[in-house]
Amino acid sequence: MTARIIDGKQVAADMRAELKAQVAKLKEEGIVPGLAVVLVGEDPASKSYVTAKERACEEIGIYSNDNRLPADTGQAELMALVDKLNKDPKINGILVQLPLPKHLDESEVLLEIDPAKDVDGFHPVNVGKMVVGEKAFLPCTPHGIIQLLIRSGVKIEGAEVVIVGRSNIVGKPIANMLIQKNNTGNATVTVCHTRTKNLAEHVRRADIIIAAAGRPNTVTADMVKEGAVVIDVGVNRVEDATKKRGYRLVGDVDFAAVSEKASLITPVPGGVGPMTITMLLFNTVASAKQAAGKG
Ligand code: NAP
Repeated sequence: MTARIIDGKQVAADMRAELKAQVAKLKEEGIVPGLAVVLVGEDPASKSYVTAKERACEEIGIYSNDNRLPADTGQAELMALVDKLNKDPKINGILVQLPLPKHLDESEVLLEIDPAKDVDGFHPVNVGKMVVGEKAFLPCTPHGIIQLLIRSGVKIEGAEVVIVGRSNIVGKPIANMLIQKNNTGNATVTVCHTRTKNLAEHVRRADIIIAAAGRPNTVTADMVKEGAVVIDVGVNRVEDATKKRGYRLVGDVDFAAVSEKASLITPVPGGVGPMTITMLLFNTVASAKQAAGKG
């Protein structure tokens, strides 16, 4: 079997077109969704993520409020900015780009964000609501994965899903979302990590594999059941002298070999990645609707 590629760029473009239409309609009613992005310091990867987020906002008509602070910004100053954004009616979503410089207390900052504007879905109030199955802002990468599955026609209900990785931003939330008793859940989920005794044995059972380990070749073809759906979340740099920049990006899955066994597979780049920012826009539009009493 040769896998069909799940084109994350296309799914993201489709969703962004839907969001753009929704934003245009909201604007007719005088509602402009607003996203505030807070970036502390000069980390190049964070800067490029933030620029991509600002561009995406512009593309679909979301008001983007850009807050770039120097690396030596103090905790009190950052907390005061979050407080100001919490109170600003033009702002429906607040995103504090992580990681913060080492001298800042990340969890204190995240706790300060109003849960009603927590479009990253990292505030414990939203995490708790998600776990008990209440309406909440869902974290963007796992929510993007669910959208990729649904929009590719994958049946989640009843599927054996094996997740490799248990981080707070990918592994744990996607596991929680997939076991919910709702129309995007009802899967049977196994979560693997570095203390898992026989990773291959678990992965081999999976109808759907979600690899989020941050290590190339964590999932190889011998671990994949014929016809499985493979979602590769990993983004890893591997040296490549043929590339101008000296490296290329690969996922956690041996893409070439696994493509010969899977029925559907996401590439890296161009799979899960484009969905993450799209779901941030989705949450910001949802937040604006809720603030206007339409959610
Ligand atoms: P993380 O916090 O480093 O967590 C990695 C998880 O994988 C941990 O739970 C770890 O187990 C587990 N793991 C690592 N090596 C393993 C192995 N050999 N066997 C089994 N489990 C293993 O990473 P993360 O933040 O979840 O991110 C994972 C990957 O996804 C990274 O490459 C990241 O860049 C990428 N990512 C992409 C997006 C996107 O939008 N495309 C978004 C987020 C993350 P322990 O808990 O036992 O240490």
